[in-house]
Amino acid sequence: MEVDVSAIAFLRRLIRLRSINPPGDERQVALAIRELLDQNGISTELIDLGSERANLVAWIPAANGGSSQRTLGISGHMDVVPTGELKWKHDPFGAVEEDGKLYGRGASDMKGGLVALIFAMLALKRDGIKLGGNLKLLATAGEEAGAVGAKHLAETGNVEELSALLIGEPTNGRICVAHKGALWLEITCYGKTAHGSRPDMGINAIAHLTQVLSVLLSDQFRFRYVEDPMLGGPTMSVGVIAGGVKTNVVPDRCYAELDLRTVPSQTHETVLKEVIAAIDSVKARTPGVKAEVRVINDLPGIKTPEDNPFVGLVREEVSKLPGLSHRVCGMSGYTDASRFVPAKKGLPTVILGPGDYKLAHQRDEYIEIEQFLRFIPLYKSIITKYLGML
Ligand SMILES: [Zn+2]
Repeated sequence: MEVDVSAIAFLRRLIRLRSINPPGDERQVALAIRELLDQNGISTELIDLGSERANLVAWIPAANGGSSQRTLGISGHMDVVPTGELKWKHDPFGAVEEDGKLYGRGASDMKGGLVALIFAMLALKRDGIKLGGNLKLLATAGEEAGAVGAKHLAETGNVEELSALLIGEPTNGRICVAHKGALWLEITCYGKTAHGSRPDMGINAIAHLTQVLSVLLSDQFRFRYVEDPMLGGPTMSVGVIAGGVKTNVVPDRCYAELDLRTVPSQTHETVLKEVIAAIDSVKARTPGVKAEVRVINDLPGIKTPEDNPFVGLVREEVSKLPGLSHRVCGMSGYTDASRFVPAKKGLPTVILGPGDYKLAHQRDEYIEIEQFLRFIPLYKSIITKYLGML
């Protein structure tokens, strides 16, 4: 295999740019990508999102002047999650290479996939390939918190023209055609303060929230859904709980944040109703419970039919590579597709990228350099097969 030294060098450069979300700081990444694409004669547009944040859009138009109906979107996010409390084996922003692995926050999730997509674009340009349709790169900010960059692109008309979408999130080479939806809820219980020695004078918000959570987390509580063959069933996890000020003060406020992951047979509206009904059951049996629910993140799941022609084409290209499976699968985590697909109903979407999703958000994240490099020609062949060459 021809080793693309410049692709590795560029990936190292992006890993060293600390686009940690929060706050994001993706502008520096967007500027680096823009510089590289501009130097190679690829049109770009930097879309400012304020305070060091930006999306970057780039495109190679169809060689016949745009008469083709097809526009393939290729997409990756530029932000990374924080490095965590524990010390890493290598500097998380050092892009250290060891035993064929490149270490760093974002190596797998997902600067690796993003750089592979960018270098597939550069290879098309370098080889003078005349595409039969349009190719559009959507590099996003803020995927790791509500997919805000993708939301902005969807709201500003950057998605309607797409006829298919390829997202380079780390799937370890697996072809994902579905992912769960995410519904994040904040449940707050309100009470009344009193001296800790006179709990009878107050209303304890922590005690009430504990009751609410014990109902929601009990085996008796079940969402109504139909098991999805690829995604299974929904899940619920309590991620945050906070309340109270002092040992000897009855707390008047306590809240929890819940992370619900949904499957296609559920609507988020129904899920919310089911949660509220569970809270109402606590209210009915315990006088004085005051609880409010607020939706803090609402991202639908996606699912592209297995027999979609774009899925078939991707499977065919992937099956040419030894060690990769042409079988399709689903994933539990959401992607920018949650923002893109609702903006273009039925947009065929495939998530396929180098890097292991199990390493995403973990300490000592890395990408296998060989796998990363294999994705450049794979992406290139998917692009040329889908858009056609003149
Ligand atoms: Zn990601």
